[in-house]
Amino acid sequence: MKHKFKATQIFDGHQMHESDMVCIFNEQGQFESLVPLAMAGDDVKTLSGILSPGFVNCHCHLELSCFKDKIPQHTGLPEFVRQIVSIRPTFSDQDKAVAIEKGYHEMFENGIMAVGDISNDTTSIVAKRKAKIQFVNFIEVFNFVKNDPQACLKISSSVYEQFQKELPFFQSTLVPHACYTVSFELWDLLIPHYESRTVSIHNQECPEEEEFCFSGTGAMKIFFDDQNIQPGIPNPTKMRTVPYYAHKMKGAKNNIFVHNVQTKESDIALINQTCKQSNNYFCLCINANRYIQNSIPPIDLFRKTQSKIVLGTDSLASNFSLSILDEIKTIRQHFPHIPVSEILSWATAEGAAALELSDTLGSFKQGKKPGLVLLDNEMTTVKRLL
Ligand SMILES: [Zn+2]
Repeated sequence: MKHKFKATQIFDGHQMHESDMVCIFNEQGQFESLVPLAMAGDDVKTLSGILSPGFVNCHCHLELSCFKDKIPQHTGLPEFVRQIVSIRPTFSDQDKAVAIEKGYHEMFENGIMAVGDISNDTTSIVAKRKAKIQFVNFIEVFNFVKNDPQACLKISSSVYEQFQKELPFFQSTLVPHACYTVSFELWDLLIPHYESRTVSIHNQECPEEEEFCFSGTGAMKIFFDDQNIQPGIPNPTKMRTVPYYAHKMKGAKNNIFVHNVQTKESDIALINQTCKQSNNYFCLCINANRYIQNSIPPIDLFRKTQSKIVLGTDSLASNFSLSILDEIKTIRQHFPHIPVSEILSWATAEGAAALELSDTLGSFKQGKKPGLVLLDNEMTTVKRLL
């Protein structure tokens, strides 16, 4: 039996269609066609609201789900990271597993079909093994182990190998955490692992990061000194972050730059010039930016420069929910002039392309299995239909 739905509007991953159209899926949830009501035959279900392909969350840390409500808002990033580091050992493996499972179900219920998930350890593997969501796992590499690049890569590689072995049906990739936590020596060892693939990096999240890169001073420097950490960046570089590291990203197929709160037009131009062979995506995590430092990313700048935009929730350490609709709501509050269809394309087709999942997800195209969600007309709730 086919699934046939009609609603107030239908968003197909790229554009909005008005109410006389019907979207048809086969029994297995594969999209078949979008046709006028007169051609749809019987058994059409009529709903109120907007139908859309399921969402893609391009940036999450599912393994940090146990931090929900543990860290106060507006601390700024250095203090936020300090709290993560100090609270992390207080959680048992059981606490972490239960929270991960809960976070996974929250994303599923919120209509999320695929997640680009940062993983620093193997605690999320059990939940992912039986998941109905597709996970693209980004295993981060840091410089924190005695400034020995080989040893640092080895630690992350053992996590990566575990992911490869346990979750062979998902893409997993070793990626840099951020430009200030990966030395160039480590980076050169890492590049062959993500060349020609999709890579994710935390980019320009806070002003302290730019200050630390440029002059080697500020709250980030104090944090690293307190923790006795050698972050791996020369001190100072006398450069902004993007000019300092963009050339390390030029071999990737897709780059997902995450956060981009401090990004300037010159940074975008430099990324596009340096990484001109790559597809460069700017991932917005607006609720996390508000949570950590009460800031918002310059979304109109990305639109003005015709940059590719995708959405992420970040983790429950810095967000109240794992819901792409909640990200959309906040974007609409701050940027009411952006058309709904444009934001929905970031949440669906663009996200699927960034994670190399366009063959199956992101839009209503024959043969895809993109999922189906219903948003109410005010876009305050989401319900998963397929
Ligand atoms: Zn993150």
